[in-house]
Amino acid sequence: MKILVAIKRVVDSSISIRVKADGSGVDLDNVKMSMNPFCEIAVEQAIRLKEQGVATEVVVVSIGAAKAEDTLRAALAMGADRAILVTTEHRAEPLGVAKLLRAVALEEQPDLILLGKQAIDDDANQTGQMLAALLNWGQGTFASALTIADGIATVTREVDSGLQTIALPLPAIVTTDLRLNTPRFASLPNIMKARAKPLRKATAEEFGVDLTPRLKLLSVEAPPKRPPGIKVASAAELVTRLKAAGALTP
Ligand code: AMP
Repeated sequence: MKILVAIKRVVDSSISIRVKADGSGVDLDNVKMSMNPFCEIAVEQAIRLKEQGVATEVVVVSIGAAKAEDTLRAALAMGADRAILVTTEHRAEPLGVAKLLRAVALEEQPDLILLGKQAIDDDANQTGQMLAALLNWGQGTFASALTIADGIATVTREVDSGLQTIALPLPAIVTTDLRLNTPRFASLPNIMKARAKPLRKATAEEFGVDLTPRLKLLSVEAPPKRPPGIKVASAAELVTRLKAAGALTP
């Protein structure tokens, strides 16, 4: 069984982002970039399925700038077998990425595609759903548990009302939620080994997909600054202050 994992290079989650002065976007100059945390969870899950003998090959794919190679190498160091880097000079949007992933899937014929539930830069939470629609495959989004047996993926989903468990015939799309697993750290020997693992480079044009943005970014603004908090001496003072601020309803 082959698993394809889509991973996105994003601003590292520990960085407090700066909005460009002209409001045209987020300043990415000299900013630490890393694998999107939900994609790390997807890579970890794929590797675990391989370690359990369920999967035979884990292929990782990323669409973006040439620098996304670092992110793919990080996934190879975690244990993925090979990587595909699709470069584009455009800002990749969910629909474009989904079309590109569809083209990769038609070529690679995976049995399962794992994606993060959302990329923490644009918070779109769209790509997996769009990809499932484009491929006409079943989808299990926000997975907090995943098992595979007899050609069926059993996915426990984190939904507002609690947990929902569904069965999907393969091939299928699964997007990962936070509680699915805790991704491993790559060891130094594995980081070295990852340098020699196969990484194919292609362009979006080679896959016949036009990634020209369809969305126009109007402006990006930082959230209003919050006033600093204060320390209260007791729970009673907290309640009094909350009442005074109208934050507690009788
Ligand atoms: P989004 O719909 O943008 O919130 O992204 C959801 C998931 O789609 C991510 O966690 C990735 O698994 C995948 N994805 C989004 N953008 C890319 C990209 N440029 N390259 C590879 N995978 C991506």
